[in-house]
Parts: sequence; structure tokens; C-alpha cells
Amino acid sequence: MKIFASLAWCLLVVFSLTSDSPAQAPWKIASARVKITPEKPLWMSGYAARTRPAEGTLHDLWAKVLVLEVSAGGRAVVITTDVAGFPKSLADQICGDLQAQCGLDRSRIMLTSSHTHCGPVLEGDAYEVYVMDAGQPALIAQYSQALRKKIVAMVAEACSRLVPGTLWAGVGTADFAVNRRNNAEKTLGEALARGEKPKGPVDHDVPVLAARDPAGNLLAVAFGYACHNTTLGIQQWCGDYAGFAQLGLEQRHPGVTALFHMGCGADQNPLPRRTVELCQQYGTRLAAGVDAVLARPMRPLAARLQTRFEILDLPYGEQPTAAELRELVAKPGPTNYQKRWAERLLSELEAGQTFAKSYPYPIQVWKLGEDQLWIVLGSEVVVDYALRLKKQYGPATWVTSYANDVMCYIPSHRVWQEGGYEAGAFATSGLPANRWCEDIETRIFSCVERLAK
Ligand SMILES: [Zn+2]
Repeated sequence: MKIFASLAWCLLVVFSLTSDSPAQAPWKIASARVKITPEKPLWMSGYAARTRPAEGTLHDLWAKVLVLEVSAGGRAVVITTDVAGFPKSLADQICGDLQAQCGLDRSRIMLTSSHTHCGPVLEGDAYEVYVMDAGQPALIAQYSQALRKKIVAMVAEACSRLVPGTLWAGVGTADFAVNRRNNAEKTLGEALARGEKPKGPVDHDVPVLAARDPAGNLLAVAFGYACHNTTLGIQQWCGDYAGFAQLGLEQRHPGVTALFHMGCGADQNPLPRRTVELCQQYGTRLAAGVDAVLARPMRPLAARLQTRFEILDLPYGEQPTAAELRELVAKPGPTNYQKRWAERLLSELEAGQTFAKSYPYPIQVWKLGEDQLWIVLGSEVVVDYALRLKKQYGPATWVTSYANDVMCYIPSHRVWQEGGYEAGAFATSGLPANRWCEDIETRIFSCVERLAK
């Protein structure tokens, strides 16, 4: 039975690859990429401890787009970028431009970031996290506005040269992500050497979307992985393991655009880490996971596209009081980003301002074909969300995070209860809160449910 099923599957694949009639190549597809490596010595994003701007390039940073269009559903774009994350203001500007110039409404734009910590600080980020030179904000603003123009021009150009094609879905695996809340980075090496397995929930899936021409040739491949893109904290521009994975795939498949999007990897790290060799190894392993999927028969995606988007009004939980902020400011020890955050919030309170009570959190859901669900969450989402969403919606579900606005960590109820860095860390984002509301997970799931319907 199994042999017949695989034979029928292969025949189906061969048939669909050898016909170029619109019925057999129902999608219209284009991909493009543009180099976004800063040319000036900008401050680098992600680590508060850096004391100077970038000093060179390990490999270039890229923005990429995959345009998908179908008569039943219209056009949508997946944009991937080697940056830590788009602040809301910049994401809104880019999406506004894409609406005006390409007619894409917000639901049709998936604006993702790889969360490399070797990319530039962007306009609208919480500058107080970094100890930057006085000249940096102007340089960062200039770069960010140029980035906005580059991304919009790239998408517009790609939209002007769509070709017929097919879409295919699959899921592979790569096993280097380690739950960083449950495994100490310092002692993990010894534990592994003793034969122990890393502890805690992980998501080692590698979702793969392949776009092919009617003859079956690969045009583009979009793939994801749920792990902080933070092998490195060097002073050179670099896309980290995701950058190496994309480079590896593009070298092995000349002319193909490889696009990386981040899964729910907020509490996952590539461990051990800190060397370029390890970073390259993780990239190679991720690319191998993608190639393994590409080499197998993949699931064809029928000619149907649905896109939904909602801004969820996500309440904060406890917010800092003036007394708490004063205490933080007066804490002994050197000035750090937490003190600077507290100082600013205190000055806002003392000037008679009140804090916002909630945050406009973006959630997006796409359906490709009849059953491929693509759930896209804003910001740094912990792994529990992906595991629960895939359990709830089935194996044909992909979950991307770090998309559309990266503002803070998004804990699950479990992580919220446990506390710790990913449960709060609001000082890294500049937001006026100590915690999210207790029912954050329920609220996000209800919104996904509304959109998935
Ligand atoms: Zn992060």
C-alpha cells in the first residue's frame, strides 16, 4: 500500500513538474534581494554591553522578498531581513509605502527579521539600551530611511516580473537549538560530554516553502528555525547562523533566493556558541535540514491564498511605580540600561505623563493552498507558542515570530508564571511595564483562532 502511495505521489510530482499550463503552474512567483550592509560605522543591535560601533563585515546583510500571487487570493509578500527586528514605527512606514506603491494591504505583507545581533540598531529602537556616541542617532535614522526605500523598491521591482510557478511545502529538522532557560551555557558542554541531553522544550522543525518554475527548477526557498540568531556578538556585520545557512543554500543552488524567517526561538539559543566556526557549523546544519526536505517529494500547495491581520490590544500587567523607579535609579553600581530606562520613565511620570496601559501587538495568519497554515506573531515569542499552535492546528502549520514589530519578549503562561528574563525584560524594549497581563497566552491564542477561522 505504501509503495503504491509513493508511486502515485511520484507520478503526481512528475506530472505537475512537466506541465506548464496555468492549471499546473497556478502561482505567479518572483523573488529578489538587496544588500543592506551599513556602509557607515553604525551601532550594532542586540547587546547592551557593546562599547563601539561596527568595525567591518564578516558577510553581507540582505533584505529579500518572495512574492506570491494567485487568481484565487491575490498577491502577498514574504520579506526577510538580516536585522534584529523592526520597531513598530519603521514597520508601519514600510507597510504604508508598500500599500501606496504596490497596493498591498497590511495582511499581505509579512515583514520578518532574522534577529541577528550583528546587525544595525534601527530608528525607533530603544536607544537607551546602548551607550552610543552622540552622532549615532542621525546615522541610524539615515540608514533606516535608506533601508525603508531599499525594501520598498525591491518589492516593487519583484512584483513587476512575476513568472508562473508552483509552491511546495515540507518540514525538516535541525537539532542545535537549546532551551536557554533550562540549560546553563557555562556548564552545558560538560553535561553533553557526560552524555546528558539538554533539558526543556525545543522546536527543532525546519519549515520549508519551495517555489519552483513549471519545469521543476527551484526559484526560491523560504525556511525557518526557532532559535535566537545569536551565536556571535562580534564587531562585524553578519547574519549569524541564519546568514550562513542562506549563503550555503544560495551557493549550492545558484540563482536561487534563500529566505530565512525566525520561529518562536525567544528562549532558545545556539549552544555552545561565541565562535565563527560554531556559527558556520550551525548554518551548515540548518541548510542541510532544508536541502534534505528539498530532496524529498514535497506537498504541492493548491492555487489558493488567504491572508488575515489583526492588531491585538495586549494589556500590560504590573507597571513600575515612581517609587520603584526611584529605587532602581538609586541602586548602587554603574549606570546600565535598566537605570537609564528607569530614569526616563521616572522623568515622564514627574512631568505628569501617564503610561500606556497596553501595546498594539500584531498577529497575522496566512493560508496557502487548502491546508498550509502560516501563523505569524510579532516580537520575541517563546517556544511554547509554536508547540501548542502546531498541536492545535496540525502538522501543516508553520509558526514565525519576530515579525511585523519586534518590541519585547512574549512569554507563554508557563514562562510568565516561572518569571525570569523572558517573562519581562521590559527595560530592553523601553516599554513602561514590569510584566505582561497574566492571560497573555489566552489572548494571543483567541486572536489566532479568530484569524484562522
Ligand atoms: Zn532576542
